[in-house]
Amino acid sequence: MHTEDNCIFCKIVNNEIPSHKVYEDDDVVAFLDISQVTNGHTLVIPKHHARNVYELPENIAADVFQTVPKIANAIQRQTGAIGMNVLSNAEEIAGQTVYHFHIHLIPRFGHDDGFGAKWETHMDEYSQETLKQLATQIKQYV
Ligand code: 5GP
Ligand code: ZN
Repeated sequence: MHTEDNCIFCKIVNNEIPSHKVYEDDDVVAFLDISQVTNGHTLVIPKHHARNVYELPENIAADVFQTVPKIANAIQRQTGAIGMNVLSNAEEIAGQTVYHFHIHLIPRFGHDDGFGAKWETHMDEYSQETLKQLATQIKQYV
């Protein structure tokens, strides 16, 4: 049994609540997101409960990510999407609402297809020296 109390995605893994699965193996399930931000919007999750990317064991991450290309291609073939956003939200500030790690596959059909992400670029504020320093600082924790 893969379970964490009151986790809706653990319940989907265990077939305790219904879902529309498009893929399943020993470690991973992919199913249609109930909100269908765009047509074909799919979630890929590990059966193992982990809160989000911060708590994802490396072997579980490998299991999940290795299924992504085939599911992405299947969605693309069926929907005729012209692109796809692949994303995972971690914690509330990033938009996480379900605390069981998941990857969103959001097929894209055009600029007004229902999905939008606002990106500001701050290139002007970062010199090569600043970037070098930032990379060095992050590297010490890897
Ligand atoms: P998050 O906001 O955490 O990145 O994404 C959670 C996603 O789970 C949302 O897109 C939401 O529509 C989806 N979701 C929440 N509850 C259910 C459910 O019971 N079934 C399915 N299939 N999707 C769900
Ligand atoms: Zn869970």
